[in-house]
Amino acid sequence: MHDLKVVIIGAGIGGLTAGIALEQAGYQVEIYDRVKELRPAGAGISLWSNGVKVLNRLGLGEKMAKIGGQMERMEYRTKTGELLNDIDLMPLIQQVGQRPYPVARRDLQNMLLAGFKGEVKLDRKCVSVEEDETGVTAIFENGDKARGDLLVAADGVRSILRTYILGREVEPKYGGYINWNGLVPAAEELAPKNTWAIYVGDHKRASMMPVAGDRFYFFLDVPLPKGTPANPDKYKAELKEHFQGWAEPVQLLIDRFDPGAVARPEIHDVGPIDRFVRGKVALLGDSAHATCPDLGQGGCQAMEDGLVLSNYLLSTNLGVEYALKRYETERKQRANAVVEKARQRAEQIHGKDPQVTEQWYEQLADERPTDVTDAIAKVIAAGPLH
Ligand code: FAD
Repeated sequence: MHDLKVVIIGAGIGGLTAGIALEQAGYQVEIYDRVKELRPAGAGISLWSNGVKVLNRLGLGEKMAKIGGQMERMEYRTKTGELLNDIDLMPLIQQVGQRPYPVARRDLQNMLLAGFKGEVKLDRKCVSVEEDETGVTAIFENGDKARGDLLVAADGVRSILRTYILGREVEPKYGGYINWNGLVPAAEELAPKNTWAIYVGDHKRASMMPVAGDRFYFFLDVPLPKGTPANPDKYKAELKEHFQGWAEPVQLLIDRFDPGAVARPEIHDVGPIDRFVRGKVALLGDSAHATCPDLGQGGCQAMEDGLVLSNYLLSTNLGVEYALKRYETERKQRANAVVEKARQRAEQIHGKDPQVTEQWYEQLADERPTDVTDAIAKVIAAGPLH
């Protein structure tokens, strides 16, 4: 189809990637976000090869390579630092045809914003949508309206447009743990600069991976009740307590991060839900399938959504609703499977059943590195650009 106007609600990874893909397909695209200033939520993200391949397809591969960290290996260690497994990532890269890139979220956001040629209109909180025979209208809190032939609801994990699609509210599900994440200067005493270092024990994780600018993106995961009070002034003391007795690099990491620049989300997911589309409105990204970060796939799935959506719109002349249905069928199967797999993985890592987590620690010590890379490759290869 030609000459479509697309309204996108949400300028996160999902909305921006979809905006670029749809613009490149020749459509007129407007993106709206409720915030007054776009700031990435969180410090870093690991884009696995399926996400990077979408960016390659959108002509952003070289830019991505410049802002991505050179991650050659993964290293699992016990909490006291004994090596459990040392995994060469080259077999994975060979298998799937693209290296993964850890990246600072600010760098990724800047790259996507530069890649989108249209305007991102801020301070526009969408409160409802109205559809008729010829199109769909987004209504904003300030009374403004935006009309398009279709509307993409990329409004995140707490999407209000999800309720419009489903006809019911879906409360995000708490994943059972809190994730402190930030950036620190890379240093050999923390981890090798080409390695994703992961310490595991007591159902917790401490992790560092390289991003451009000689920095590590780090995260520290701790199973805690939802609603545990958060105060940046206490992050270091709290984390010193949670990670007491852990290896020296973990202690140094806690000493070195800037608590004012650390994000601390309670991890939630959404789904699987049975509808991504209603009429001319399509959910995309976390609004449809927020995913526990334990597979590093939520953002990659949002990117896949954008490409698949634009492909279906481009390749049919049977109308917007037909294209959206095809999008829904393909993406529901793929993204819902990832949501469920990531939830199982989150439970395995964070001690939902302590015995299962103990078994995982044993498995990490025993399994062949290629078993680990094969499992990652399987998730990547199930995407649209395998
Ligand atoms: P969001 O980024 O949430 O964007 C939604 C946008 O919509 C926001 O800008 C918001 O302001 C706007 N908005 C909301 N409501 C409205 C409204 N009513 N009107 C207008 N605008 C609105 N994924 C990976 O692939 N790899 C990883 O390593 C990884 N690590 C993660 C680590 C953590 C700790 C977390 C929490 C997530 C991680 N993810 C990862 C997942 C990834 O961050 C998300 O899947 C991705 O950011 C979702 O993008 P999105 O555009 O769908 O939603």
